[in-house]
Amino acid sequence: MDLKCKELYCTHNNNYACMAKRINVDYKANCKTYKIDPQKEIQDASKNMFEVAPDVHPYRHNKDVNIRCNCKCLFNDKGNCKANGITVSGKRNCACCLTVIEK
Ligand code: SF4
Ligand code: SF4
Repeated sequence: MDLKCKELYCTHNNNYACMAKRINVDYKANCKTYKIDPQKEIQDASKNMFEVAPDVHPYRHNKDVNIRCNCKCLFNDKGNCKANGITVSGKRNCACCLTVIEK
């Protein structure tokens, strides 16, 4: 699973990669594992990071993230996300899965 996330202030975020072992996504496609770290300084990550192929992403250490999801999405298989990868973006103080395709 390739998980890119723009929530740079989340405690699990390492330069756009999510380092959590597991995340939970709710029925509105929001990441509920999002945990803001007020002490975290803004990370100096390239704006082009999303354009780089996943295999050469310099900070992509976490291939084993498990995604549990309650959203009615085409990629949802009995509560597990089966997409090859997802992108999570910050929006109004919540982290939203942008890969969602609603059924
Ligand atoms: S907001 Fe969610 S997907 Fe993004 S780094 Fe935090 S836990 Fe991972
Ligand atoms: S792609 Fe769909 S199933 Fe996967 S986390 Fe996002 S909303 Fe859930």
